[in-house]
Amino acid sequence: MRICIIGSGYVGLVSGACLADVGHDVVCVDLDPAKVEMINSGRPPIHERGLPELLARTAGRRLTATSDLEGAVAGSDVTFIAVGTPARDGRIDLEYVRTAARQIGNALRRRNGYHVVVVKSTVVPGTTDGVVREAIEESSGLRAGEDFGLGMNPEFLTEGRAVEDFSQPDRIVIGGIDERTRKVIGQVYAGFEGVPRIFTNNTTAEFIKYASNALLATMISFSNELSRLASAVGNVDIVDVMHGVHKSAYLTTRIPGQPPVTASISSFLEAGCGFGGSCLPKDVTALVGQGRDLGVKMPLLEAVLEINRTQPEEMLALISRHYPQLRDVPVAVLGIAFKPDTDDVRESPAFPLIRRLIGAGARVTAYDPVARPVGHEALQGVRLASSLAEAVADAEIVVLVTRWEEFGGLASVLAALGREPLVVDGRRVLDPHAFRRYEGIGRSGGAASGRRT
Ligand code: NAD
Repeated sequence: MRICIIGSGYVGLVSGACLADVGHDVVCVDLDPAKVEMINSGRPPIHERGLPELLARTAGRRLTATSDLEGAVAGSDVTFIAVGTPARDGRIDLEYVRTAARQIGNALRRRNGYHVVVVKSTVVPGTTDGVVREAIEESSGLRAGEDFGLGMNPEFLTEGRAVEDFSQPDRIVIGGIDERTRKVIGQVYAGFEGVPRIFTNNTTAEFIKYASNALLATMISFSNELSRLASAVGNVDIVDVMHGVHKSAYLTTRIPGQPPVTASISSFLEAGCGFGGSCLPKDVTALVGQGRDLGVKMPLLEAVLEINRTQPEEMLALISRHYPQLRDVPVAVLGIAFKPDTDDVRESPAFPLIRRLIGAGARVTAYDPVARPVGHEALQGVRLASSLAEAVADAEIVVLVTRWEEFGGLASVLAALGREPLVVDGRRVLDPHAFRRYEGIGRSGGAASGRRT
């Protein structure tokens, strides 16, 4: 099939490259000429495992990129909208989606034959059949469900393993205004044999995406709320607590003769310094905003956001046990990306922490193995180190924010430098006994081990 994807970011580019790899002819559209140029020359504009190899196979062959949106739509059978949907003032901002929809409409006005438009961006329930439909119908003069198909196909990929997630999805949700639309979207995924498919209407498809993300965010804030109590109670280690929870039969499956398998959702039932990224914070905010607009109270999800907003304070509280004041104290922040294996720093929990450290007068150095957001407004006054050793060389306090594998070697890097800073573990990945001064989220002074079996 000939597929056009509007927006060549994490979702658009990964989807485009994977769909090209299974045999479709894909054209990725983006406003940013630098991205277009990089994609066409086979260089990934983002850091994603497997993407360089995928582009090497597809770029310039089945995958091309352009800034000519109308031309790309005109030459395709199906157009996906994969532009950003940020939160602004507590609500979803649909401006990019609306603009893309209008542009698609302009292209459809000049095009003959049936075409299907599919929203892949995460949009609040009702958007595809509302804002998107209106914008396309207005600019094209055509009718959805008659002259063109309109569908919704949410994306569940996780940054850091986006290629793997897209190529081997756990489910494919296919919303459509009618059967004909759903059938065409089903054909796009013809190469994905054996994957559960959920065929539904557009609004339910939109809702499935939000329900999924809201659940994950809730589990994280649940764990963080409990970790606060664990620290206050004393002699409790939240790592052991959650380990005990994970082993319940609800989360760990035991089949005689085989090793027990713990469900991967358990990784959201772990205390940390809060969730970030381009999805969970904005999606939960958008859902709460929609509830507010519709007069539906959402106290649970409001609390999820509030716990997350205040979680960086927990890190500062751990620091202040040792350093009641931070003026001129050198602090190394390890991790700027919101999670490991990505260069995405959007809504990273590192930023509120850094802001507070700078506000308290600390001298902050930050290091990330991949993300290097030079000039980012949240990093004003922050020195960016180019290696772990450089970052911690003169630090009195080291704060681990992102669960990068490289940081597992912190103890040996410090030993080689002969340094014994206070280590504050925001992800509970370090061995407390490897450091002279150690604090971890959800662990009061004398608490137990955190060792797993
Ligand atoms: P992104 O910001 O990385 O990419 C969006 C791209 O769209 C940008 O490159 C931008 O230049 C381009 N763009 C915007 N308007 C355009 C237009 N009119 N024409 C051409 N290009 C245009 O965003 P993303 O992270 O890929 O997310 C896209 C959507 O997918 C969002 O709704 C997001 O919530 C959702 N989503 C993201 C993830 C994720 O992990 N990043 C996962 C699932 C779903």
